[in-house]
Amino acid sequence: MDYDKMLQRLYSSLPEKTVSKERFELPVLEVQIQGTKTIIRNFSQAVKTVQREDKHFYKFLTKEIATAMIMDEGKLTLNGKFPQMQISKLFENYLKEYVLCHECHKPDTQIIERNGVKVLKCTACGAISAIRKI
Ligand SMILES: [Zn+2]
Repeated sequence: MDYDKMLQRLYSSLPEKTVSKERFELPVLEVQIQGTKTIIRNFSQAVKTVQREDKHFYKFLTKEIATAMIMDEGKLTLNGKFPQMQISKLFENYLKEYVLCHECHKPDTQIIERNGVKVLKCTACGAISAIRKI
């Protein structure tokens, strides 16, 4: 699948307000079900694209999906069958909370510590948003 098609698929799966004005090149997870396992083939690469640690999203996923998962060589293997749609939705939720600025929705953000609490700081508009602890 070429990149344009992947993007098209991503945008068509996003709620309209995210798509409205500005478009970001958000990565798409490549999900493949093999037997009784689900493999996210570009796991680390996709998370790296949005400047986050793969371990961070991994922790998020383990909270959202109660199953065993193994991260190995950039891939994530989950026990059980999880459709692409479900995984994409979780990634989208992750991006909305931990990557995209809650105010201006740009992806130029950092997770910083403030008074001992991790917050999302936007380098574009300066907004600081609360994030849940993973
Ligand atoms: Zn912002």
